[in-house]
Amino acid sequence: METILVLLHTPIAKPGLETLEAARTLGGDLVIGLIGADPQAAAQSIAGAGRILAVDGDAFAQPRYSTDAAAAQALLTASAATIVLAPSTSRWSRALPGLAQRANGRIDTHVTALNGLTLTRWYYRQRIEASLTRTERPWFLLLESGIGPAYTPTAAEAPIERISVDSATRTQPKGLISPQSGEQTIKPEADLLFVAGAGWTKKQKDGAIHLDQAAELILGLLKSSNASLGSSKSLVDLSGEGHAVLPFLSHLNQVGQTGSTPRHPKGLATCCHGEEPHVVGWRFIQDRRAVNLDANCGWARGKADVLYVADAFEVMEELNRLLTTAHN
Ligand SMILES: Cc1cc2nc3c(=O)[nH]c(=O)nc-3n(C[C@H](O)[C@H](O)[C@H](O)COP(=O)(O)OP(=O)(O)OC[C@H]3O[C@@H](n4cnc5c(N)ncnc54)[C@H](O)[C@@H]3O)c2cc1C
Repeated sequence: METILVLLHTPIAKPGLETLEAARTLGGDLVIGLIGADPQAAAQSIAGAGRILAVDGDAFAQPRYSTDAAAAQALLTASAATIVLAPSTSRWSRALPGLAQRANGRIDTHVTALNGLTLTRWYYRQRIEASLTRTERPWFLLLESGIGPAYTPTAAEAPIERISVDSATRTQPKGLISPQSGEQTIKPEADLLFVAGAGWTKKQKDGAIHLDQAAELILGLLKSSNASLGSSKSLVDLSGEGHAVLPFLSHLNQVGQTGSTPRHPKGLATCCHGEEPHVVGWRFIQDRRAVNLDANCGWARGKADVLYVADAFEVMEELNRLLTTAHN
């Protein structure tokens, strides 16, 4: 029988709880390895799932390759696991490939589904979907968020067993630099993905560009709906070409073949043509809607559930008015 280790760092966010629930469907012995500042408090959200081992202390509160890999290695040894599952957080995505190498194991990243020990993932810029399994152990799997339901605690108590790890390191974090210049616009947990396309920066029916108004309408909607902001490639590429741009957008907002594949329940695209390389990033959006002046745009060709053929400036003006009224 396989021993399955689920690696989580504190605080345990939704992708971690989804990974835990996915691990429970595999059968086998389940051990949870927690690292971070306060594992006892975090353990409450996973109470009843299985034996909990923890590595804590100041050195493990900070994301850092050397300490994260050392903690994961100690948890691997203590659990004697053959399968290791972890959510695809930046922390685990950085630390686990190196550990898999050290442990003479194998790792698969960007896992989008698990059917027993057969995983599904995408290759070639999300054009080819593959199912595969491996015989080598230990086998590490990094699971994408949205892989399934999240675990809910089934017990009141969550006892932890502490594992001590040497935390000697030469790397000290000095601070955090975020590429977002203004407020946080990427919100993976939001119910709505709002996509802005290059049309927002194009000449409108009066022959002029209305960038300030576009920025005001988009930010207004984000504020009143708490939506996550996505973008087409054309719009984020404009800054590199020296054109007028929306300052709160970066390549991190880009959705599509060479961008991200977010998983919000609903999506609304505005001033975006709906070309295949963009829409391929909408694969996991369940309800897709678009606003475009062009009745023959890409969205009209089976890519959207609903296409509103309208001026997005006018639609958004009215939408923001309705949302603001509803909130007051
Ligand atoms: C290898 C490769 C990879 C790529 N990867 C990606 C990717 O990851 N993501 C991505 O997005 N693209 C990607 N692209 C580019 C993609 O093919 C398109 O060029 C891009 O998505 C177009 O962006 P857009 O729809 O915002 O701009 P445009 O094609 O310029 O469309 C603007 C739209 O705005 C509409 N519009 C203008 N004014 C208004 C208004 N007032 N109201 C309503 N509608 C209005 C217009 O009718 C038009 O349809 C890739 C291309 C290649 C070749």
